[in-house]
Amino acid sequence: MTWPKQFGGHERSALDRYIIVEELLAAGAPVGAHWIADRQSGPLLLRFGTEEQRQSILPRVARGECYFCIGMSEPDSGSDLSAVRTRAEAVSEGYRVNGTKIWTTFAHVAQYMILFCRTDTRSENRHAGFSQFLVDLKTPGIEIRPIFDLAGRHHFNEVIFDDVILPESALIGALGDGWSQVTSELAFERSGPERFLSSYVLLTELVRALGKSVDERAAIAVGRLAAHIIVLRRLSRSIAGMLATGADPAVQAALVKDIGNCLEQEIPEIARLLNSVEADLGSGDDYISTLAETILQAPIYSLRGGAREVLRGIIARGLGLR
Ligand SMILES: Cc1cc2nc3c(=O)[nH]c(=O)nc-3n(C[C@H](O)[C@H](O)[C@H](O)COP(=O)(O)OP(=O)(O)OC[C@H]3O[C@@H](n4cnc5c(N)ncnc54)[C@H](O)[C@@H]3O)c2cc1C
Repeated sequence: MTWPKQFGGHERSALDRYIIVEELLAAGAPVGAHWIADRQSGPLLLRFGTEEQRQSILPRVARGECYFCIGMSEPDSGSDLSAVRTRAEAVSEGYRVNGTKIWTTFAHVAQYMILFCRTDTRSENRHAGFSQFLVDLKTPGIEIRPIFDLAGRHHFNEVIFDDVILPESALIGALGDGWSQVTSELAFERSGPERFLSSYVLLTELVRALGKSVDERAAIAVGRLAAHIIVLRRLSRSIAGMLATGADPAVQAALVKDIGNCLEQEIPEIARLLNSVEADLGSGDDYISTLAETILQAPIYSLRGGAREVLRGIIARGLGLR
């Protein structure tokens, strides 16, 4: 919605986009396919990509024909991205990549990955020597293996790079600037309504299941959750406003994600207390099946996009406490 018209966008405001995303999430709409490209890979290419990358990719994303995945985490590097070991070495044809990425959401359906890896292993500075690449996932030498989550579903993967040759034109931005580029992406990843609305459908199902004659205890609990959602929405929207002005609200985004994730994980717990039925995925009842689904999903909320303790470290540093 916000991208330039020349790349298939509508040049609408960040707030317009926010409202649409919020409505989609509140309705529990299927948004997975375009999610990553619309939220962060596309904006990254708009900001740092070459003209060729933008023209060949962005209109296809805007038409809903092209999906992205994020290649940041590795088996020994999740929270500490500076421990990334996947390496791209300059060779005559471009770059040779070796390494393993993990938890890569939708790698099995996406056409492209934004790969974050080392291009220089000699630097003393922990944050130097990283670069980002636009990777066509059909390139020979890439193997995508499924990982199944708690509910037995396949959405994330392990992606192995074995002597994968990327052309020079795959580099995004400047060689060695990967760290500052990737951190600018994280504010987009951490502050949107998806960071506090993951359990919203359960809340509406709970209210429906409780019916009109609720006791005082239930009314207070639901009212409190509603108040929290309204406050989080204002916080999250103000970050959308900061992003639109080109600011870098990394600390504020970490704060919204942490408070939002606490609320998202509290909703199934409160639902169980107020309406204690046995959660069952196969139940024909919307409340019971949504409760089961949310209980299985809730542990991931405070991991994906940055683990809770790590976000709190960022907030503490931003407040000058460490
Ligand atoms: C559903 C889902 C989808 C994901 N999709 C993607 C994706 O598409 N692409 C991608 O690259 N990654 C993805 N991830 C990975 C995600 O970014 C990582 O799981 C996350 O960054 C945490 O890394 P880790 O799993 O290696 O845990 P670790 O970093 O090993 O952390 C384990 C525990 O140690 C704690 N910890 C770690 N460091 C510190 C510290 N300095 N201080 C205090 N406590 C600490 C953490 O808080 C956590 O509780 C996804 C994860 C999930 C759950």
